[in-house]
Amino acid sequence: MANLAAAMKASIYHHILFLVIVFVPCTGWAQYPGWQQAIDYTMDITVDAPQHQYSGSMDVTYVNNSPDVLARIPFHLFFNAFQPESMMDVRSRNIADPDRRVGDRIAGLPEDEQGWITVSRATVGKTEAAFDASGTIGWLTLPKALAPGKKVKIHLDWDAQVPRQVRRSGWMNAQGVEFSMTQWYPKVCEYDHHGWHTNPYIGREFHGVWGDFDVTIHMDAAYMIGGTGALQNPEECGHGYSDATTPTSGNIDWHFVAEDVHDFAWAADPDFVHKVLEMESGTTLHFIHQADTSYGAWEELPAIAGRALEYYSEHVGAYPWPQYTVIEGGDGGMEYPMCTLVRGNRNLRSLVGVTAHEMAHAWFQGILATNESLHEWMDEGFTSWIESEFLAKEFNESKDQPHYWAYGGYLNLVRDGGEEPLSTHADHYVTNRAYGTGAYSKGEVLLNQLAAIIGESARNAGIKRYFDEWSFSHPGPVDFKRVMERESGLELDTYFQYMLNSTHHVDVALSAVRITSDSTYIELERIGKLPLPVDLRITTADGRTLDHHIPQVVTQGHRPLEDGEQLMAPWPWTHPTYTVALPISEPGCTVEIDPRRWTADADRSNNKVSFSTGLIQEWKSGGEQ
Ligand SMILES: [Zn+2]
Repeated sequence: MANLAAAMKASIYHHILFLVIVFVPCTGWAQYPGWQQAIDYTMDITVDAPQHQYSGSMDVTYVNNSPDVLARIPFHLFFNAFQPESMMDVRSRNIADPDRRVGDRIAGLPEDEQGWITVSRATVGKTEAAFDASGTIGWLTLPKALAPGKKVKIHLDWDAQVPRQVRRSGWMNAQGVEFSMTQWYPKVCEYDHHGWHTNPYIGREFHGVWGDFDVTIHMDAAYMIGGTGALQNPEECGHGYSDATTPTSGNIDWHFVAEDVHDFAWAADPDFVHKVLEMESGTTLHFIHQADTSYGAWEELPAIAGRALEYYSEHVGAYPWPQYTVIEGGDGGMEYPMCTLVRGNRNLRSLVGVTAHEMAHAWFQGILATNESLHEWMDEGFTSWIESEFLAKEFNESKDQPHYWAYGGYLNLVRDGGEEPLSTHADHYVTNRAYGTGAYSKGEVLLNQLAAIIGESARNAGIKRYFDEWSFSHPGPVDFKRVMERESGLELDTYFQYMLNSTHHVDVALSAVRITSDSTYIELERIGKLPLPVDLRITTADGRTLDHHIPQVVTQGHRPLEDGEQLMAPWPWTHPTYTVALPISEPGCTVEIDPRRWTADADRSNNKVSFSTGLIQEWKSGGEQ
């Protein structure tokens, strides 16, 4: 995939490479909507650790591949969120169910624990340029507007104070990691077919431009640093990155390089220890955590994390970068390109769970990189899905339904009426719970439940195809839907419309059964408004199973049938009920809707009923179970 990444990047110079492009297969060049911006950062950072401050200087090369003339370029200034009365602070104090990690902590930060980031000088080429900051966004006015296809060289100098750790980044997290440096530098906002993405930093989900980062951090020799990218000078740095002795005084100049990433994160602590796992694939896994005897789970983590990397590479697509680093830091788990920061003092199962989740983000947040503020389910939901698949295999648990917890969480929200549509912007849900359960659990359900329509093999093949066609291209919902439609040959508009833009759910009931001397009639009723195909299993008293598949009209076809499965006429969504007539009349049969538990049916008490023959028996939901 490194080659693909390079190829995708090269495609931005299509005006130069036009003659070459005609020889390249089209799918490898798929980009929505055919262009994306490009950027490279070279940074020089000097850290004053005792003051929790640093100064930064960077050269940015920005290429405008859009069809638009750009007069200004906005930057994220995330650290400014950690000040009393910031939007993040006020939002946290007014939302009904605040994140416990934030609560009112920002409001109470003394000055020397607040965060700030101040750009002191901006130049474009050799010309001084105005930089106007307000809250967590700063606008650079270009002395000369940037035409389509042109590039600009920007230089920024800035000073920053690292906030006391409240959410994700900051100094001294709850486990004593001194510096969690995430969302820490002036980061150019993404510009795409929607325009600029200048979301003020409220607390969640990120979006960025792919490019190369060359970052040099000057820091007291006592600290070990882990971060995005490959360390270029391990011999100088020591600290277990090489056999060289670690310098004991002065600064170490840590030099990291990362190619084709959309962000850069790092963490530093004097107590960090470092382990390395070399994978057969050529990827190097680094593990960096505080040296503490209570952290035994970290001894067992590397082998399992290696299996996770292999699992995701096999089931989604090849991991494209040379390394990945699991770093203790932050306040839970948060994904960044080529690394993650996770809370460290956990038991093995918890440490593996968070690591497996954050590593899976490398595929959906790092390589596919959907705008996760707009389409949070495509990042958190898909990440959670593959994480659940891996953990079920790794721990040999939940084998029947690895996504049991996601279904349960989503359905609890459905039942108590707190759901909000998945099309809601991540920052704008009324409650944190509706966001969390929607993005993670309903997103996971959405992907798993696709099997009910198109079958497991098309769904699984579609995930790989999605990765192949959309890596390094910021796909959106329609792109994903189209991949699944091409893979299955079915029409999926209705499913995605309901799942994303409504809060309708699935509930199909067995509403009546009538048995005659030679036939059985089963009436189904759609109580939930979301129409899905229905699988119906009759189990006879002697244990035979008779499976039936009832497609929806709107899919214009059906998934491949299982061995012995009977195809029934499709069920139009306009029709509240559907009757199945079977030429059997046997004692002791059981009939069950959705025996594989693919659908998130909100009420399973009306999904299964036993009946005996020779009688005309009417059964209504809520009765016999
Ligand atoms: Zn996540």
